[in-house]
Amino acid sequence: MNIILMGPPGSGKGTQAANLATSLAIHAVSSGDLFRDHQRRNTDLGQLARSYMERGVYVPDDVTIGMITEWINDPDHAAGFVLDGFPRTQAQAQALDEALSDRGGIDHMVFIRVSDDELVRRLGGRVICTECQRPYNLNSSPPATAGKCDYCAGELYQRDDDKAEVVSRRIEVYNQETEPVVDYYRQAGSLSEVDGEQPVDEVATALSEAIGARLVG
Ligand code: AMP
Repeated sequence: MNIILMGPPGSGKGTQAANLATSLAIHAVSSGDLFRDHQRRNTDLGQLARSYMERGVYVPDDVTIGMITEWINDPDHAAGFVLDGFPRTQAQAQALDEALSDRGGIDHMVFIRVSDDELVRRLGGRVICTECQRPYNLNSSPPATAGKCDYCAGELYQRDDDKAEVVSRRIEVYNQETEPVVDYYRQAGSLSEVDGEQPVDEVATALSEAIGARLVG
């Protein structure tokens, strides 16, 4: 099953993608996490991505498409996936259709809707685990012990691009470049929508209803 989660930065795609993938026993992948992993390993791709990410703008399409299609074509991911953060441009949407053309295409595409004011509030309070990438929100879902991940005890940090000066740029770039892609899918009737301002569990329920999946446990 190939599922795409769309939504602005801070809409909760990462949290929902991880939960959904666990429930369906498939993989979740986030283009942003793949870029951050390259940065930690200091690869050429990581260095290149950093120069865009720290400004809150998109990494060029050819680089992003190459990285994601390689991930999708990995035999370990043949059973399907939940994709978060891709596609974000028209060229990426087209590349995704091509990459999936001989393996059933996209089964479900869900848009998580959150207002700009709420995004700014969430991104300002977000911290991430350096080890497992799990996100927390210091206002609404803080860790049990300050600065430590509840699951793996890794150190929590604030992403450079969640700092106030970059957040507004990211939302602007999303509205300019990705909102038209979302509109295209919406008009084509391919998109389900869920209200992302509900509590995390209720978003998860709405999401599983939208894709017709039965969550276990
Ligand atoms: P995210 O973790 O999804 O918020 O992504 C963080 C940053 O990674 C974005 O602001 C972009 O600079 C870059 N990025 C992630 N996904 C993409 C994509 N599909 N296309 C271009 N840049 C991306």
